[in-house]
Amino acid sequence: MGEQWKQGTICVQGGYTPKNGEPRVLPLYQSTTYKYDTPDDLAALFNLQAEGYIYTRIGNPTINAFEQKLSQLEGGVGAVATASGQAAIMLAILNICNAGDHLLCSSTVYGGTFNLFGVSLRKLGIEVTFFDPNLPAEEIVKLGKLNTKLVYGETLGNPAMNVLHFEEFAKASKELDVPLVIDNTLATPYLCQPFVYGANIVVHSTTKYIDGHASSLGGIVIDGGNFNWDNGKYPELVEPDATYHGVQYVKDFGAAAYIVKARVQLLRDYGNCMSPFNAYISNIGLETLHLRMERHSQNALEIAKWLEKDERISWVHYPGLESSTQHSLAEKYLKKGASGVLTFGVKGGTAAAKEFIEQVKLAALVTHVADARTSVIHPASTTHRQLTEEQQRLAGVTPDLVRLSVGIEDVEDLITDLNQALSGGKKYAHHRG
Ligand SMILES: *Cc1c(COP(=O)(O)O)cnc(C)c1O
Repeated sequence: MGEQWKQGTICVQGGYTPKNGEPRVLPLYQSTTYKYDTPDDLAALFNLQAEGYIYTRIGNPTINAFEQKLSQLEGGVGAVATASGQAAIMLAILNICNAGDHLLCSSTVYGGTFNLFGVSLRKLGIEVTFFDPNLPAEEIVKLGKLNTKLVYGETLGNPAMNVLHFEEFAKASKELDVPLVIDNTLATPYLCQPFVYGANIVVHSTTKYIDGHASSLGGIVIDGGNFNWDNGKYPELVEPDATYHGVQYVKDFGAAAYIVKARVQLLRDYGNCMSPFNAYISNIGLETLHLRMERHSQNALEIAKWLEKDERISWVHYPGLESSTQHSLAEKYLKKGASGVLTFGVKGGTAAAKEFIEQVKLAALVTHVADARTSVIHPASTTHRQLTEEQQRLAGVTPDLVRLSVGIEDVEDLITDLNQALSGGKKYAHHRG
């Protein structure tokens, strides 16, 4: 399966092409180990001189097919699947950052990432500067230091749903001569391909739209193969790796240097790999990504338009709305739709927001976004409650903010549900339509 296919075709058939007589459906290889005929066969694998499977912590045929499909969808040169989205972000960073290094990160990133960077990476001696994602390239560049190793942002911020200024971020990272790492979880490769807009590494929580059914945790790191690591800043990618008899990633693996190192060094040592079963389940979800993303985007736009007209709502934020400050960026980078997550403020602040959430029936209160079922959460009292008020403000979280992850149900039913919840649970009260 090559890159000549369009996104929908890759979703359905990418990553796995059965040979004569082989299963039509990607098999689940639930095996930790692989059998070889001679010690020399296995030795060649341990020296990275031959391709094949050694041990599932480093690679597995089911996981590999899932990785290949996502790499094709993003237009990358290779990918490594991980235990979760958090594990993917961790792997993407630690592959090029050591104690004493520094990175630049948009302040509107997912709460889990904010904590990982601001607290846990700091403990490892990696320093992070968070910055306002509306800064122009020159201002971002000014925040760079000699030890800056990457710039990090999200295609769609969670939960602020701000669209990344790819041009400014790409210009800044080029100027700093560091890779641009993008979390593309909420957009998915169906709605946006960050490598086209200057990203060098893409990460996903596959737990969200890619699995799409809220059944399997997972993550993935995808290498665009479009960054020159031999610029003096990344010696570990250039100099011999003693743990593989002097392998030199850039010299020996060319454009795939980063992703090969992530697999053979970091997955081997940290063990944050995806399970074959989760790859199997996530791959079935991925087969319908293109259909689901269209419906998620249509439903979310319709609901955003409905909420915008309702006087019980103080504001609505959805990049697909023409009134949104993000609309022109969405038109540029999210041509097929603005995805399924929107936020709004209920008149009456925190109390009204909580009351609304207690009254919804189809929409469920869960700590999740981006699956087939509509869900709702109050970030200020849940996902973002560990942050200070100032940090919440920087992340775009206000006390009245409700985050709605619009599913793929019939949109009329979803609107009926929102309507009755806004009326304090009086089913089918006034305000219809
Ligand atoms: C959920 C999420 C993550 C973390 O992924 P997990 O699979 O929950 O570890 C990272 N980034 C974004 C944008 C997310 O929505």
